[in-house]
Amino acid sequence: MIELHKGDITAFKVDAIVNAANQSLLGGGGVDGAIHRAAGPALLQECKTLNGCKTGEAKITKGYSLPAQFVIHTVGPVWLGGNNNERELLSNCYINSLTIAKNHHLASIAFPNISTGVYGFPKPLAADIAVKTVKHFLEESRLQRVLFVCFDEDNYALYSELLNSI
Ligand code: ADP
Repeated sequence: MIELHKGDITAFKVDAIVNAANQSLLGGGGVDGAIHRAAGPALLQECKTLNGCKTGEAKITKGYSLPAQFVIHTVGPVWLGGNNNERELLSNCYINSLTIAKNHHLASIAFPNISTGVYGFPKPLAADIAVKTVKHFLEESRLQRVLFVCFDEDNYALYSELLNSI
């Protein structure tokens, strides 16, 4: 089932939280910085062993000091105007993160609003892609709980509308 929440994803006690990381996987601003701060320095040590991550792909680490057991790091596309495969790459972030969760037999996973911060993806389009991709994935694979954790009011309003209208 899909749940909508507002708040700081680092506070969620779920099997895995998803990090909207960059290709280096070595930390950054926004939700990435918040996750590294809350997890502690051991997270960066593990991330250094992963050799980065391509846009649209995902890699898993432990959660260290986070309440979540794992972090699934995915790299969203930078919005470059819409003609650079941004939609498919964003959808791939959700599919690849969910696939890792499923392969690890995780029951709950929480997503931030990938690419809608400094990466500049239009929020209404990103929300539409996120909701459609997750719903489609859940038709074929069972995961007990998928949480969308919105940090800003705009995204929360967009997701509320989308999740109530389907
Ligand atoms: P990106 O580079 O993928 O755009 P950002 O971290 O800049 O990543 O932003 C992605 C989304 O994460 C934005 O909607 C931002 O509001 C949100 N965000 C920032 N901090 C947190 C947090 N602590 N918990 C959940 N979401 C957050």
